[in-house]
Amino acid sequence: MEIIHLSAECYPVAKVGGLGDVVGALPKYQCKAGHYAKVVMPLYITPFLNKNEWTEDFTGHTNVGDRWFDYKIFKEKNNTLGFDLYLVDINGLLDREKVYGYDDDSERFTAFQIAFLHWMNHWEHKPDIIHCHDHHTALIPFMMKYCYAFENLSDIPTVFTIHNAQYQGWMGWDKSFYLPEWDTWKKGLLEWDGLLNPLASAIKNAWRVTTVSESYLNELSYQSKGLEQLFEMEKNKCVGILNGIDAEVWNPATDLFLDHHFKIKNAAKSKGLIKDELCRKFQFDPSKPLFIFIGRLVAEKAADILPDAFLSTMYLFPNRLNILILGSGDELVEQQLLKLSDHFKDHIHVEIGYQEALSHQMYAGADFLLMPSRVEPCGLNQMYAMRYGTIPMVRNTGGLRDTVKDMGEEDGWGFLFNHASVEDINHTIGRALELYETDQEKMKKVREKMLRFDHSWENSIQHYMEVYESIIV
Ligand code: ADP
Repeated sequence: MEIIHLSAECYPVAKVGGLGDVVGALPKYQCKAGHYAKVVMPLYITPFLNKNEWTEDFTGHTNVGDRWFDYKIFKEKNNTLGFDLYLVDINGLLDREKVYGYDDDSERFTAFQIAFLHWMNHWEHKPDIIHCHDHHTALIPFMMKYCYAFENLSDIPTVFTIHNAQYQGWMGWDKSFYLPEWDTWKKGLLEWDGLLNPLASAIKNAWRVTTVSESYLNELSYQSKGLEQLFEMEKNKCVGILNGIDAEVWNPATDLFLDHHFKIKNAAKSKGLIKDELCRKFQFDPSKPLFIFIGRLVAEKAADILPDAFLSTMYLFPNRLNILILGSGDELVEQQLLKLSDHFKDHIHVEIGYQEALSHQMYAGADFLLMPSRVEPCGLNQMYAMRYGTIPMVRNTGGLRDTVKDMGEEDGWGFLFNHASVEDINHTIGRALELYETDQEKMKKVREKMLRFDHSWENSIQHYMEVYESIIV
């Protein structure tokens, strides 16, 4: 089967969050399973671009609204990622250092999608599946059906995966001229709540829709930033497929970012050494349990309650634990956390920014990982933590609910709590402390259990194949 993945992110080319991890791994494992999966993404100015070799595959000329542009398609030469990678280069629009966050993002990603379809119009064959990820590629299913220029692509089945429905790519109708001439009778298939809504449009126009966990799919019908009714209406074409993790990149036995590697047998010792290194670096006492938080400092992740929560942790459990935070996002939260760590230097450290290496060391060296997310479509951090024998403390929502079982239940291995609140976080920290301080034997057992888990992609690939097969004509 030939599958073309379209995405704004793909690890290690460009990653902002979980989308990048998934698009960097899913095609690799599809290829390993004997399929021909490729990724097409925008060309950004990233270290990966300079470190690898490229061939120019195609040059075209097209437009987004009244901006005409030349674009180039570059193919990575050596199959470095385990699948064919194509970058769409549009001078002045895509070739920037950051993935998102520019005022003209709507124009940038619409141009990317148009260039891709324009290029595909020149192919001599048709792929079996076009698989679009998140709102940056969400106009493709509509354009393939209703833009006259792309009419001959309309019989290629499309799949749309929602990694995060919080971001929908909303545009005013004044931006509708970005799209190549389209059948205006079909305006309703672009619209939701009076706006041009790319995410809603993909839900309406893609042949099948997937989300990254079953619980998240259920939640979308009552909590999806205005799309609840749409999910209710379209639920028959939607399916929840839990993400896998790239067990090669995230492997405690070989991880390139770790100085000490481990399998079940030597986990306690190596994890201890990695923890010692982290504690030395951030001046913590390594005999105390190490709690970590990694992620975007945004409301979705409940980052806004972390400063208050950790302040009360310091008073409720004085001198009993250390907290290491890695993330960036909301400036106010960043400032509050930095201030807190200034005040409690011996017990709290905050690293603002994106640090892939440190994140691996934290998953490996910590005792507990906290994820109080208000919304968590799948969540990868808890799976990485478990893969490295670190106990997850997560809110009972979305993919967190589908991957963590509370220790209070038979054979459970993590901590679940119901509310993204200061009280629930501290109650759970209290439970974790009790475990750490009174039952190291249980901690060991739980760690060994988690190290045996298999969250690899091989399990999820089969579900995606079933979705593809259901629509291939
Ligand atoms: P989301 O995609 O909503 O941000 P996920 O849990 O699906 O959340 O994926 C987050 C990914 O981004 C994980 O690989 C996590 O380790 C990584 N990550 C998030 N913030 C940082 C950071 N500041 N430094 C390094 N890695 C980070």
